[in-house]
Amino acid sequence: MPHLENEQRPPRGEFRVSVTKDYLVFASAHFITFAGHRCEGLHGHNYRARVTLDGEINQESWFVFDFVEIKRIMRRLCDEIDHKVLLPLQNPKIQIAEQGESVTVAYEGKPRYVFPKSDCALLPVSNTTVEMLAELLTNRLHAELERVGARGLTAIEMEIEENFGQSAVYRTSLTSTG
Ligand SMILES: [Zn+2]
Repeated sequence: MPHLENEQRPPRGEFRVSVTKDYLVFASAHFITFAGHRCEGLHGHNYRARVTLDGEINQESWFVFDFVEIKRIMRRLCDEIDHKVLLPLQNPKIQIAEQGESVTVAYEGKPRYVFPKSDCALLPVSNTTVEMLAELLTNRLHAELERVGARGLTAIEMEIEENFGQSAVYRTSLTSTG
């Protein structure tokens, strides 16, 4: 075994782990606004999430991050917005108001929808595009990773697909979990 010593050195390359599962999906309704005065009608997608974590190898476990934990967190984040109407709280053209058990939605001041509050996910985004959903879920995942004390991660990449072959990816570098 002449090379054993070399083989036991810490790896110098970079590692990346990736998770996408049948249950990392959310079937949700939404509509987006476009530049100018165009607004989609309400419709739904079977969204699918794929998450990728870049990081250092943990030299006790020899993984970047525990797959069980990442799947558990991602499943919860998807479940939170599954079977909901996704509504953007930061869209200047859309006015959202909670009234008792209802949420009323107006577009450019004209009433448009009333939903049961329990069926809505009010999201801190400007538009419910897959780009903004990818960023939002990345931020929520990052907060959860910090909460569970994840270490050594250098980047999170989140892909949200809304139709086959139609997705957006958001990637953020991490400096605070090292
Ligand atoms: Zn859509």
